[in-house]
Amino acid sequence: MGIFDRVKAVGKEVGIGLNAQEQYQRAYEKGVLLQPPDYPSAVKHFSKACEMFLQEGNEDMARLAKANATLYELIDKRNLDTLPELIQVLEPITEVPCIGSQDEMIQTSPLIAELRSLQYEQQAKKCGNYADMTLEYMNAAEGFMKLGNAPLHISERLQLEGPVEKAMLRAFYCEGLSDYYSALSVVLSSPVQAHDHMQKAASCFRQAMVVDWSKTVDDHIAKVSSKSHCWMCGREMQGEDVFFKYYPAETEDYHTQLLESSSDDLRMIDNAGHVTVCTVCGSAIENQADRYATMRADEVRAWANQLFNQTNDVLTNHNERLRALERVAHRH
Ligand SMILES: [Zn+2]
Repeated sequence: MGIFDRVKAVGKEVGIGLNAQEQYQRAYEKGVLLQPPDYPSAVKHFSKACEMFLQEGNEDMARLAKANATLYELIDKRNLDTLPELIQVLEPITEVPCIGSQDEMIQTSPLIAELRSLQYEQQAKKCGNYADMTLEYMNAAEGFMKLGNAPLHISERLQLEGPVEKAMLRAFYCEGLSDYYSALSVVLSSPVQAHDHMQKAASCFRQAMVVDWSKTVDDHIAKVSSKSHCWMCGREMQGEDVFFKYYPAETEDYHTQLLESSSDDLRMIDNAGHVTVCTVCGSAIENQADRYATMRADEVRAWANQLFNQTNDVLTNHNERLRALERVAHRH
């Protein structure tokens, strides 16, 4: 090997003088296929390869390199805001190498479908209201459902909550979230409808096998379905903590007997030392109490301010007299 070839060989080893294909290959060798993988390095080499393919006029390979760079950047940084960009670069391509492999290829269409659903989930998280969250999660669920029993390709690598291996399970999970937010969006107008949606959510979360969400929803179901009369106005209300609450109060056996003898609702005092009051009566009392407390606080503040001012006057006067005395003392 001549000196020129040897310099060239050393150059290639450190990444100088590579052609586009070699640069692309380098992304695998110095990034994807390392153990553990070095994704930032892979992204850097794929991006460089993309530029070089473009210079050579090889648009197909440039697109593939760009798709890989964007895909591995998503896996590395887990910034789901880059999903639209990734979907866009994958769309004109029919096949890409599997994540973590160079030779095994996968169709892009199921990968794009998974990414679209993840994008709907991401949009749901950014919605400011429950009704929109309901729609976004339903879109995500429909997308995952279309993938059926297929395995998911990328979700597991993004450290997402919920099932990340099977499309079907993630579909149930998203449907459960859609029903859950749907329940929250209607609870103030209809606790009965909210109860229905919560029950659907519970069934979805069970199918998705997500225990924590099942538990959360079961707790909501218990509360939203519970009913009690208001001790103050006597109306029956449905939905604990939404339309009635337990307020601290003195209750004795005598009150239980009274309710029993008049066939009234015993649930009003089924929690010792508390009574159920509807949120209308309860908030009226709280607001009024708040007004009195504010008035009283203002009175105390005015009285205290006056007192502080008087004390200040006395102190100022004492200071002046002290200084006068000191001046006299210095002269002697
Ligand atoms: Zn009431």
